[in-house]
Amino acid sequence: MICPRTGTVRVIQLQLWPEVWPFASTPAAIPALHASAVEHPLDNGGREVIIALSPGRPVQWASGPVPPCSGGHVNPAPTIAFSWQAIRRALVSARSFLVCAALAPLVACGGGSSSAPATPSATPSAPSTSSVIVNGRTLDVFSAAPQAAVTIRLPSGTSATSAADGAFSITNTTAGQFVTTATGSGVVERQTGLRFPGEEAKLTLIPASFDLATFDQMCRAGSSALRRWDTAPKLVVIDAVLQFTSVSEAAYTATSERLTAQERDAIVADLAWGLPQVTGEAFAGFASVTTESPQEGAQVAFYSREGAIVVARFNGLRSATSYWGYGRWASRSSVVVAGAVMLDRDFEKSGSRYQRSLRVHELGHALGWNHVTLRASFMNNSAVVEPNAFDKDATRLAFVRPPGNESPDRDPSPYAANFRFFPMIWGPITP
Ligand SMILES: [Zn+2]
Repeated sequence: MICPRTGTVRVIQLQLWPEVWPFASTPAAIPALHASAVEHPLDNGGREVIIALSPGRPVQWASGPVPPCSGGHVNPAPTIAFSWQAIRRALVSARSFLVCAALAPLVACGGGSSSAPATPSATPSAPSTSSVIVNGRTLDVFSAAPQAAVTIRLPSGTSATSAADGAFSITNTTAGQFVTTATGSGVVERQTGLRFPGEEAKLTLIPASFDLATFDQMCRAGSSALRRWDTAPKLVVIDAVLQFTSVSEAAYTATSERLTAQERDAIVADLAWGLPQVTGEAFAGFASVTTESPQEGAQVAFYSREGAIVVARFNGLRSATSYWGYGRWASRSSVVVAGAVMLDRDFEKSGSRYQRSLRVHELGHALGWNHVTLRASFMNNSAVVEPNAFDKDATRLAFVRPPGNESPDRDPSPYAANFRFFPMIWGPITP
């Protein structure tokens, strides 16, 4: 055991990470969680454990049940998987915090109201510099080759430098999440969150030789935030040719003309061919492919299908706009949640050698990508280039960074490189 489970803790000072414990933001909720926590064995490798131990935002907890190991919280709902070793490290951290926190007026450990701590019995000291350590590796984002001599720096000024194999170990005096900067020659400076304590950090870095300016054009809408899908879209094909009116109508009228099965299959095949190439292989295929057959004269909703990319041929698109096709996306907080592809009916029937490049270009817009002017790319507005090596690298980078990542390589503030921010949570099993 790291620390005893006997005795009582009268008042303890804790900080809860609100994004981890949204349901435990009030002091009243804490004893219930602890009561539940105590029922769980700690030494089960499959258990999920959160440790909350920073004095930053005190929560008073009076005469509740004994918490497991004075400050270690066992989460009754599966949230974040830690190894048993990580649990042990975290409990050591919790203990060293309590040694310090025992000096604070709000904290009194032991059987009575005395402020003398019963456990642990170590002499109170300055915060242990070995209390919260994050280990990690710095790697090239494309090749996964180790990146040596990268300096990882915390806001406090504490820093560590990666070894020849990319390994680093950084120590902090306080638990919590901190914006961390990684710099080195030959790599683009990265800012991301690191959580102390936390899982091993895999800090991937963009090589300085990468064409970041074009990446910004394509994936960050000209250097604002990265915007992308985070789950594979569904594909919905409308097999009636729709009558074009203007580019942003909510619905279009179905004409009597139908796509043949062969034409429909060819559109699906081209989009399925392009999808993995322009999502950095993040999406091997569409989540599903369905066909809708609206009757002549029916109004077909085009921009209201969340989770899907809708594609259709349009009569009169080119004559009205002079373009062969259009692509569009809808996003929510930098996550693309819907897309649309409009293809000109006459161009589609023309047998053009650029039919596939146009379809994949418009798919690119439906995925959230913008026009590229700085180099050859499938996102050139000519739409005559098929996905090339740059396009594949750029979209791959887009899918190893969180939506909201900013230029040159700055992750959004809630994100931490060593923490799964939105963990998978199983509901109850039902027959
Ligand atoms: Zn375009």
